[in-house]
Amino acid sequence: MFEFLRHKKGPVICQRQDHCISRKNIDPDALKVLYRLNSLGYKAYLVGGGVRDLLLGRAPKDFDVGTDAKPNEVKRAFRNCFLVGRRFRLAHVRFGQKVIETATFRANSQSVGDIIEHADEGPMEDNTFGTPETDANRRDFTVNGLFYDIKTFAVIDYVGGFKDLKKKVIRSIGDPMIRFREDPVRMMRAIKFSSRLDFDIERKTAKAICALHSCILNAAKPRVCEEVFRLFSYGSSEKAFRMMWKCGMLHDLLPGLSDYITKSGGLKSPEWKYLAMLDRYDRGMAKHGIEVSNAIRVAALYAPYIRGERAAAGRNAGGVARQILGDMVKTLGVPKTTYFTAVVLCDSERRLSQPPQRGHLRFVRNKDFPDALDYNRIVARVEGRDETVLDKWADACEKQPTDETRK
Ligand code: ATP
Ligand code: MG
Repeated sequence: MFEFLRHKKGPVICQRQDHCISRKNIDPDALKVLYRLNSLGYKAYLVGGGVRDLLLGRAPKDFDVGTDAKPNEVKRAFRNCFLVGRRFRLAHVRFGQKVIETATFRANSQSVGDIIEHADEGPMEDNTFGTPETDANRRDFTVNGLFYDIKTFAVIDYVGGFKDLKKKVIRSIGDPMIRFREDPVRMMRAIKFSSRLDFDIERKTAKAICALHSCILNAAKPRVCEEVFRLFSYGSSEKAFRMMWKCGMLHDLLPGLSDYITKSGGLKSPEWKYLAMLDRYDRGMAKHGIEVSNAIRVAALYAPYIRGERAAAGRNAGGVARQILGDMVKTLGVPKTTYFTAVVLCDSERRLSQPPQRGHLRFVRNKDFPDALDYNRIVARVEGRDETVLDKWADACEKQPTDETRK
């Protein structure tokens, strides 16, 4: 797939004819930013996950630009540009709702985690800017360190990313023991990319995760919480949470859930069936451009644990859910709205197990009803239960007058 030329002392360059990235697959607004910077004489590269996904034939989630233009120079180049971030200034070039993040090449001296976690300490020195090479080296994994140059249409590889894309491997750039201590969130990112892309984690990188997993507790809660939810994206949560459990990081973050998995059979725990079904559901919805909500994800993640506790204690699902899911709020800072909706979903199982009757119809007007229906379908499918009753609830919902017709 890839033919490369190694220059005497420098990056591996993969020329246009030897890779599959076509401008047709790049967002037209990202192309506008790249062309404009290039026409002003600056280096303009597509960077990070966008290049990785294009080389893999996948549709990138976002397109980020790297350049040697300083933030002020980028601002001058675009009327629709805003500088954000106090320590490391990033340029956001806006096209309606869309933002093309445009960053000046950075030196290797500071991790992304540091920049985010010490964001209020004032602006960084100019010497934090770097070259394309230092910018590639400060990134997390080799497959995320590739650049696509709009001037030559070549892909530039300073870090061995081509080789690893071909081998389907997630490998830390630099010593993983150092890189993960520097920013522990990178360990979760390794797990996310491995499960999402179906890549192996390289041996030294995996060993470092096993050794350092508990450092995740040193990272800022909102970043960890965000990465936990990203583990669900692209319908790959089963694989991701298996890895999280096996390496011990799930125990660091969600000890109750991790203990439940261990006690209920480990690799054979019912947990995995629920997540596998959530993934199938998620992939089905994604085909219609719909994303499963975080509340459904939380409820499905905890469903077998809550159901087990409820059966053992003879308590109602709502009470058990409130208590167990409360852990997630405490340790991860999950937003309260997600927590409350997840509790409603767990509690809805009893109600949605009976056909809808007059007195219950108010529930179909509840804002959480569509999520409750989805969640109950996931649970019914895991248990091989018939969905006729749920179909009746869906019908009842369709027949309900909307707010418009009620007026
Ligand atoms: P996704 O498809 O999920 O957006 P991505 O690789 O684009 O994946 P982002 O979080 O958007 O991930 O980050 C963009 C790029 O910034 C990454 O590809 C990587 O090169 C770099 N990066 C992000 N987070 C870190 C980090 N914690 N440490 C080092 N580099 C990072
Ligand atoms: Mg991205």
